[in-house]
Amino acid sequence: MHDWREWLVRQISLAGNFDKNILDAFLQVPREIFSEFKYDPDVVYSDNVIITAKNKDTYTTSSQPSLMALFMSAVGLKPGMKVLEIGSGTGYNACVMAHVVGEEGLVVGVEINRKFFEKSLEAASALSLRNVVFVNADGFFGFEKFAPYDAVLVTVAVERISPYWIEQLRIDGRIVAPMHVYTIDRQPAFVFEKTSESVIAKHLVETRFIKAGGSLGDLNERNLERLSKIEKTFTEPSSFLRLPSSQYETLGVFHVASWSLCERLGWIYFVEDSAFARWKGGWETYGETRLLRTIAEEWARTRYTPMTLLIFHYDYGMNFKGLERWDET
Ligand code: SAH
Repeated sequence: MHDWREWLVRQISLAGNFDKNILDAFLQVPREIFSEFKYDPDVVYSDNVIITAKNKDTYTTSSQPSLMALFMSAVGLKPGMKVLEIGSGTGYNACVMAHVVGEEGLVVGVEINRKFFEKSLEAASALSLRNVVFVNADGFFGFEKFAPYDAVLVTVAVERISPYWIEQLRIDGRIVAPMHVYTIDRQPAFVFEKTSESVIAKHLVETRFIKAGGSLGDLNERNLERLSKIEKTFTEPSSFLRLPSSQYETLGVFHVASWSLCERLGWIYFVEDSAFARWKGGWETYGETRLLRTIAEEWARTRYTPMTLLIFHYDYGMNFKGLERWDET
């Protein structure tokens, strides 16, 4: 019934100032067909997360609609755009976006789970949508075939930003992604913009998403593996780097700057190719921790600005380049 969708759109409008294109798209798509569970309409059309499908030990959810509207706004989603969604689940958000971008545009949704992917195919065909494509794959690799994209929307908490997304994004295009910062159990979403020579990122909002699997959810293990290769070459620490910020702020900034943190037996480490540091209320360093020192120096220049007010700079490979304060650009 159309009234319920109007009720949903009213709730979304209360959460922010969104384009009519975006709000109207939510009027076009019935949310219940994306769920294998039956909910009452006041649940399906509330501005809340709903569990849409389960499979063995995993499940998928349809994210909070007003948060999706905020993500669409943050990448500047408009008619005619080509957008890549990472973690498309059973497809609700992708189908809403298909209405925002219209017939001249395209939505490509990548989902790692076969069952959820199949449900998304079914739903899109029931709605006779021709401008949405679903792919069953690990989203880390993006989807080369339809590149370049005008935007990438990530709807699963990822541990790092894939260089493939940068490669497949047009210049001036944006990525919005919730980052799973596992050492502090926080999921800040950032907007990454590709400029003609670099990538810059700003905090958007704090979120809660399902944690990514596959290559978007194995960063801790990868860093632990790098650590185990170099650990034994050092017996004594070389220095201690004290920072005036809290553990919470420090680990957040270092994670988002470098994707180099890992955790083992309650200890947190920062890993480089031939050096590492261990967190002890400051960094106890082993070997020439160049990247760590660079980040610390850049952060000092910003007078230890909190993560939410920083601008992060990277190269196209998502390697750290520098930091700035938001209010100084
Ligand atoms: N956008 C969806 C919400 C999906 S929840 C909607 O509107 O309904 C997040 C999804 O990300 C889950 O379905 C999960 O299976 C998927 N996922 C987890 N890791 C992934 C990866 N590496 N690549 C692609 N999808 C992934």
